[in-house]
Amino acid sequence: MAFDTPPSDTPPSDTAPFDTALAEAWIRAIAAAVDQDRDRLTELDSAIGDGDHGSNLQRGFTAAVTALDGLQPAGPGAVLVKAGTTLISKVGGASGPLYGKAFRAIGAALPEPAGPAALAEALAAGLDAVRALGKAEPGDKTIVDAYTPAVAAFRTAAATGAGLAQAAAAAADAAERGALDTVPLQARKGRASYLGPRSVGHQDPGATSTALLFRTLAAVTAR
Ligand code: ADP
Ligand code: MG
Repeated sequence: MAFDTPPSDTPPSDTAPFDTALAEAWIRAIAAAVDQDRDRLTELDSAIGDGDHGSNLQRGFTAAVTALDGLQPAGPGAVLVKAGTTLISKVGGASGPLYGKAFRAIGAALPEPAGPAALAEALAAGLDAVRALGKAEPGDKTIVDAYTPAVAAFRTAAATGAGLAQAAAAAADAAERGALDTVPLQARKGRASYLGPRSVGHQDPGATSTALLFRTLAAVTAR
């Protein structure tokens, strides 16, 4: 009968909270995305760094997935804290401690289960952790240049009633714009800063991987 079939134009409901399964899915999806984008991240880091950003993140997130395989996490926060701890211990480059501290802070700030506004605040705690460790300001051509607009967009979306997927998509768009906007900047933090004006004209690898993290969050929350 006709009214047994739901209308095909019903938008997918975007009301699910950020729970343990989504947190695990996010880390696993990041590992897959980093596998796929390793060479692009490495090329960006070859231009203004030492060419290891892709392999650093691949090593770190592969190890994070392995760590999760044996874990019975107490909640989404525990998943992200575990991932962060693994990044800190497995990645030697600057990005390991920075992303590691970020994931640990996001996990520590996350209630269970978290709605969009709570996830926005947890993500903001992650940005605070990056800034506390790395001391970078917006405009220094770092992770902060993608992460800052992503948090702002996530917060705005959550405050206006967006679900997780919609808020994460807005954050990913903002992070990608932030990463593109690093091209004309001169690096003032990290290895790229040693190049001085020669760092101008290249997209920052860390800002690029931050955009990848937010795009991946948008993908898993839209499933
Ligand atoms: P390394 O620079 O030690 O080789 P990676 O290549 O893995 O480490 O990461 C480089 C990225 O780390 C840079 O592109 C930049 O975005 C980020 N980064 C470096 N220093 C800082 C900092 N102080 N604050 C925020 N991000 C930083
Ligand atoms: Mg490097």
